[in-house]
Amino acid sequence: MKRSLLLIGLLAFIFVAVACGTVNEKTSGNNSGPVTEDSSEQADKKEDLGNKDYNDEENVPEKTEPLDVEQNVTGLIPNENGQIMILMYHRIGDRESTWTRTRENFRRDLQTLYDKGYRLISLKDYLDNKIDLPLGTTPVILTFDDGTSGQFDFIEGDEDLQIDPGSAVGIMKEFYEEHPDFGLEATFYVNQRPFNYRYWKEAVKTIVGLGMDIGNHSLTHENLKKIPIEKYPDEIGGLVAHITEALPDYIIDTIALPNGGYPQDVDKALEGEFQGVKYKNRALLLVGARPAPAPTDPAFNPLKLPRVRADEENLYRWLDYFDKHPEKRYVSNGIMEGKKYNLK
Ligand SMILES: [Zn+2]
Repeated sequence: MKRSLLLIGLLAFIFVAVACGTVNEKTSGNNSGPVTEDSSEQADKKEDLGNKDYNDEENVPEKTEPLDVEQNVTGLIPNENGQIMILMYHRIGDRESTWTRTRENFRRDLQTLYDKGYRLISLKDYLDNKIDLPLGTTPVILTFDDGTSGQFDFIEGDEDLQIDPGSAVGIMKEFYEEHPDFGLEATFYVNQRPFNYRYWKEAVKTIVGLGMDIGNHSLTHENLKKIPIEKYPDEIGGLVAHITEALPDYIIDTIALPNGGYPQDVDKALEGEFQGVKYKNRALLLVGARPAPAPTDPAFNPLKLPRVRADEENLYRWLDYFDKHPEKRYVSNGIMEGKKYNLK
């Protein structure tokens, strides 16, 4: 009896000793892993991930692997509470100036955004918090004010109208065809008879047909801070009624404030009626001057949405800021529902 107890005791001791040894070995092995990885250079990171992190899964049957391995476009940690840039363009033309971006620079902006992992979303999807992007990418919203012909124009062919390939829409469309994962989204804030005075109806129809949006910039570009409140229906509702002539079923429900003038009476800017046409807005866009909060951020206020001026100084300053502070930018967790674009 005593001997067998001793034997059991001895066996138990050996078992514990062996188990401890294994545990120690494992722990020290795990410790050395991350240390090596941390000290490795950024450029090697992807390779390390491939060789190291998934090594443990080598014995897992092949079928389950695709579920675990999703490509992160930027390698950034998802953060769906980060900031989102709403870019503000005005004219697109041949010479760079305060309110004009050249075609070449606009094309370069798109390329730079794409290369840095930014992807286009619509303002509507931002307001609805339906941000549907691949893992690791950051949403960016494009807005264009004033409905100028550099933003959209037609070239008259013998039989039909062609989108001017040198206009912002032409450039975006071409870029989208080369980079379908960039998306094709923008909101054009227009006044009466936008883009191309003669063919303005075809112009707004074409833009909406491409899956992009038209927004309200008032009928005659009036500063809502300065005009009498009684004129709001004429200016805000008047623009809605005007666009409805071309797009009877299209809903215009956001305003980019002309000259940044904040309405004296916000409620009257948001809702009213002009000659039997009702208007209802859910967002007011300011002129400046910083990225906007995520729709889930308590600071999110659709009635005071800040925008970043898309010029050389401001756009690239903010891009640089997010390069240096990636934790500040919205980074998608990659849970997607799928989005389709209508290219004609
Ligand atoms: Zn304007």
